[in-house]
Amino acid sequence: MTEEVLDLVRPDLRDLVPYAVPHYPGYIKLDANENPYDFAPEVLAEIFRRVGGQTFTRYPDPLAADLRRALADYTGLAPENVLAGNGSDELILTLLLTFGGGGRVVITPPTFSMYGIHAKIAGTVPVTVPRLADFALDIPAVLREMQVPDTRVVIVCSPNNPTGNTVARAEVERLLTETAGLVVLDEAYAEFSGESCGDLVRRYPRLVVLRTFSKAFGLAGLRVGYLLADPAVVNALLKVKQPFNLNAFSQLAAVTVLEHLPVFQKRVAKIVADREELYRRLQNLSGVEVFPSQANFLLFRTPLPAKAVWEGLLQRRILVRDVEGPGLKRCLRVNVGTPAENEAFLSALAEVLTQG
Ligand code: PMP
Repeated sequence: MTEEVLDLVRPDLRDLVPYAVPHYPGYIKLDANENPYDFAPEVLAEIFRRVGGQTFTRYPDPLAADLRRALADYTGLAPENVLAGNGSDELILTLLLTFGGGGRVVITPPTFSMYGIHAKIAGTVPVTVPRLADFALDIPAVLREMQVPDTRVVIVCSPNNPTGNTVARAEVERLLTETAGLVVLDEAYAEFSGESCGDLVRRYPRLVVLRTFSKAFGLAGLRVGYLLADPAVVNALLKVKQPFNLNAFSQLAAVTVLEHLPVFQKRVAKIVADREELYRRLQNLSGVEVFPSQANFLLFRTPLPAKAVWEGLLQRRILVRDVEGPGLKRCLRVNVGTPAENEAFLSALAEVLTQG
């Protein structure tokens, strides 16, 4: 009987809900913070040219050595400071499996939901320290929670998903100098803010910086993330990660991307400029409160319940993210699309808000 099988599921996982992605083919998709532009055709052609020389009969390189070297160049660190993963999602879980050990993990909501989910899956205890009203970190409260015995890790996102604000470098250093735990700084959107604390891993062995190819580099479908950390941390993670976590095709594609940086940097600059334009236009919509962002998305609040706005936009074939929840009353998140997509979103939103 089905129920008997379900009784065998770990009790602490029974209330988890599988991650669902709404699938609306042909809709304007501004709900997953993806890169709105088609992957650069000249880079794609180069990836396919290189793939022609591969047979794929052998397992991929477990260390992704070529990618590691290319990422060392990109970040100004050594290859030993780099670990590649199947998206940064995988690395979050690997970090918690390696360092969590049944202990407490501090999370600062509103933030990326996968931290709490991975914390549960890893058998750790997620402890939440809500951000302040302006979404800044409540540093004294984080420091207090980090003093509680058996607190192993704090995860901070900068720029933060879904609020868009960054954490100051001095605050990251405070967390490192005034706590004894592992400080995980998720910089998935760093290319859009132009700021990174990656270099701090040379000075602080308890700092881990997470990055991804899914946003600025438009490679979400190939699942490539990486982290920057002290070699001792990387070596500890190597004991836990799946040996062949990153497939050969994705490794090759990511290396090729890094050899064509200007193509992607130009698009990042365009997205950042369009973000500022979208911010101004949202600000001018009556009743809308929009929050400043250093990422490729904007958080905004409307007078209507977020679900009603989400549904109104869906009827107009536009997908955004309903992020209503603690600290985010009547809030939604929209990522910067192409100029035409941004226009369509703005006029649909104006319609939804005036029709009530
Ligand atoms: N961190 C943050 C803050 C994110 O928003 C996302 C993607 N939504 C991820 C990590 C996961 O990215 P990846 O595609 O590299 O798994």
